[in-house]
Amino acid sequence: MRVAVVGVQGDVEEHVLATKKAMRNLGIEGEVVATRRKGVVSKSDAVIIPGGESTTISKLIFADSISNEIVELVESGKPVMGTCAGLIVLSKFGDEQVEKTKTKLLGLLDVKVKRNAFGRQRESFQTTLEMKKVGKIDAVFIRAPIVEEVGKEVEILAEFEGRIVAVQQGKILGLAFHPELSTTKVHEFFLNLAEP
Ligand code: GLN
Repeated sequence: MRVAVVGVQGDVEEHVLATKKAMRNLGIEGEVVATRRKGVVSKSDAVIIPGGESTTISKLIFADSISNEIVELVESGKPVMGTCAGLIVLSKFGDEQVEKTKTKLLGLLDVKVKRNAFGRQRESFQTTLEMKKVGKIDAVFIRAPIVEEVGKEVEILAEFEGRIVAVQQGKILGLAFHPELSTTKVHEFFLNLAEP
């Protein structure tokens, strides 16, 4: 199995390591490649869009048309996971910050997101979350977004203080936090969505 981590900006290496560990735990043979070039995502079985700055990640993936490769991969039935900024980029609708910055979104996940939703007081924090299908995990939030509205195909997997922080739509996973920093359970769940 080959998993691509979109490596244009953000916490790319942490996702590579968490994915490798998850593969080992599941006994899956394969490779994990961080990429900022065309032609890698399209030859992968799954793709991860990390956290970072959604404005920057968006600009770079659209400029290089990695965006088209991600859309095509998902349309061919392969899984994609977006965490934090990656969740924002995957979404269909953004908030006024997304509009103001003219950030292009992939529009694959039928949700509306709000950037930096926890405000300045709680820019980053760690908490325990109960995530459906995954179980209890530690979750690290860093200037995290939230999901404000979900379409009818979207299943809510986790909430924190009444706010939606993890969703699934078929093989599309969107998380407001950073699982790669604290657990491999989410990556294991994600890999199980991919066919070898
Ligand atoms: N605040 C960032 C954004 O809106 C996301 C932060 C993150 O990915 N850790 O793009």
